[in-house]
Amino acid sequence: MTVYLVGAGPGDPGLLTLRGAEVLACADVVVYDRLSAASLLDLAPAAAERISVGKQPGGPRTSQDDINALLVARGRAGQQVVRLKGGDPFVFARGGEEAAALAAAGVAFEVVPGITSSVAVPAYAGIPVTMRYSSTSFTVVTGHEDGAEGEGSVNWEAVAALGGTVVVLMGAARCRAICSRLIAAGMAPDTPAAAVQWGTRPNQRTLRSTLAALPDAGPEPPATIVIGEVAALDLTWFESRPLFGRRIVVTRAQPQAAAMAAELRRRGAEAIELPVIAFEPPEDVERLARAAAEAGRYDWAVFTSPTGVARFFEHLHDARSLGGVRVAAIGPVTAAALADRNVVADLVPGQYVAEALLEALCDAAGPRASQRVLIPRAEIARDVLPDGLVAAGWDVDVVPAYRTVAPVPDPGAAALLVEAEVIAFTSSSTVTNFVDAYGTDAVPDIVASIGPVTTATARDRGLQVALEASEHTAEGLIAALEDFFTR
Ligand code: SAH
Repeated sequence: MTVYLVGAGPGDPGLLTLRGAEVLACADVVVYDRLSAASLLDLAPAAAERISVGKQPGGPRTSQDDINALLVARGRAGQQVVRLKGGDPFVFARGGEEAAALAAAGVAFEVVPGITSSVAVPAYAGIPVTMRYSSTSFTVVTGHEDGAEGEGSVNWEAVAALGGTVVVLMGAARCRAICSRLIAAGMAPDTPAAAVQWGTRPNQRTLRSTLAALPDAGPEPPATIVIGEVAALDLTWFESRPLFGRRIVVTRAQPQAAAMAAELRRRGAEAIELPVIAFEPPEDVERLARAAAEAGRYDWAVFTSPTGVARFFEHLHDARSLGGVRVAAIGPVTAAALADRNVVADLVPGQYVAEALLEALCDAAGPRASQRVLIPRAEIARDVLPDGLVAAGWDVDVVPAYRTVAPVPDPGAAALLVEAEVIAFTSSSTVTNFVDAYGTDAVPDIVASIGPVTTATARDRGLQVALEASEHTAEGLIAALEDFFTR
């Protein structure tokens, strides 16, 4: 078996290589550092052992010898071992020492290079490390010179003389000494300089200054320091995304939570997935199966959620059973779920709430008496639609297609919630379940609601709603959040 020395990139989980993801997916053991992104560890099989060798706050650091010994032992034991390292494993990461120990022990290893922070972190701050004519080289140096890490001594005079861009890793703590030494070696004090903290992550922060003044800006680790003409460039893109740095809790059920979180991340937010609802089969599955098989008896099939669509179609074995049935969807997302199954909705109301759907259905049916309608939906839901249709003389069959349940509260939630700024409620049950599981005090400052019904539930539970989507879909809610934060 093999020990893989894998570069994890500087933080953004998207900066892992395909090869890195591939070897993680079949790991028996993952040996990782403190800063490794949790979502990268999730790429390993659930059963894989995960061993942290990073320095825990207040705890001891595992010595390099112990790490080497651990890798050798696990490799010899025939395990598939992934040693996950920040950035690139061979750039100031002691990957060379680990590889040497494995080679000496006769354990097979493979190096999976990573995206190094020395290039990627400046890029996320809008700083290219080279520029035609003005910056024709970049020198990457360690700022951590004291014996402990044994990185050796840097010839700062030579670095200064070379010109071009100087990138300093591990230099935040010794920033003042480094800048003074470069000035003493002849670099102009007004040379542009920047320090990028927590680069490529939602909490990235860029301090822009000059060589002489950068130390006063007080850079804090982990930071990548860039010195040279390019440090004056501000081709900002990451930090200017509309939801950059916002920590937003997503409460809806999986897999919708993951999809919404991905959309939020694309806009720069740090999305925290904390589903407070989950879907399970209905009490009476037989009834749903029968309704699907006999769907042709109805004039209308009305869907009020994508989950209702998904569960109904799981039981629809012959598409022809839907034959001449007219199909309505409460909104575009439900209509899209139908379209995924090659059914084009005949009716989608202009407003995506039950009241509007009721009105649209009555309009569409006209004066024709006794329309038979099938409504496959959540076991517990508002009765506005079925009651209204009955009142209008329709023959209504409400068939439970799924049950909405509250998952067991996440024990790690409290820690995530104190850091969060926004919570996105996408239905009344997300509000109810969240408050029941974690309490009103755990609700982040800014409450965002998908629509009036959810807003009313939130207010009932004593919450202040800061914003409500005007289009009552997850997309509409994201647009409302963008609007709120860019206003
Ligand atoms: N092997 C890594 C470097 C390890 S040394 C690589 O190739 O990127 C650790 C140093 O890298 C930190 O002190 C800091 O200078 C830099 N660094 C790592 N991650 C960073 C991040 N997200 N933002 C800014 N600097 C980072």
